Amino acid sequence: MSDLLQIKNLTRRFALKQGELTALDNVSLSLAAGKILGIVGESGSGKSTLARIVMALDHPTSGSVAINGQSLFDLTPDKLRAARRDFQMVFQDPVGSLDPRHKIGRLIGEPLYLERNAPTGTARRDRIAKLLEDVGLSADDMDRYPHEFSGGQRQRIAIARALITKPKLVVADEATSALDLTVQKQILDLLLKLR
Ligand code: ADP
Ligand code: MG
Repeated sequence: MSDLLQIKNLTRRFALKQGELTALDNVSLSLAAGKILGIVGESGSGKSTLARIVMALDHPTSGSVAINGQSLFDLTPDKLRAARRDFQMVFQDPVGSLDPRHKIGRLIGEPLYLERNAPTGTARRDRIAKLLEDVGLSADDMDRYPHEFSGGQRQRIAIARALITKPKLVVADEATSALDLTVQKQILDLLLKLR
């Protein structure tokens, strides 16, 4: 069995006006399905750069990322789009990551566009309702807007959205650092429970 995530010799350099910045320097790691890996480092140490590359939102200068044994940067655009449902991300800022113009149901259901036979109508609503309950909110919340929720609740919504395609890998980039201490613990407990 190969690991769910396999990162090999990943390097990412950014060209700056003056010279070059090495954000990632030969990073290798692997992660088995169902496991949790925490990446710790000071601000600017490259955590978000790594997360963005694993989500195929950025390309490495060299090195490889494989998810389920599939090399991420060798996929055709079509295959990459199909693969995206297997890996989702929760961002640090639950305010910036939820479009304030849309209702919660639409926001959570959005990644379903990645599924070829995505549920519609009642089946879609049922799936969103179930997820809202899984993250400790209520089904009725799907008809409300992001501003009606607290920071912690918004992060629960962001987690629900990350989970709707039943991903095998979820990357949380400082998903709790914008929250109060007690809410941080609730969100971490929730992530543990959902795993
Ligand atoms: P962390 O998430 O650990 O705080 P980042 O991955 O955001 O660190 O940043 C790592 C380094 O790469 C920082 O020095 C940052 O300024 C630099 N960096 C990140 N993205 C870019 C970019 N698009 N262009 C230039 N430099 C960048
Ligand atoms: Mg960061």
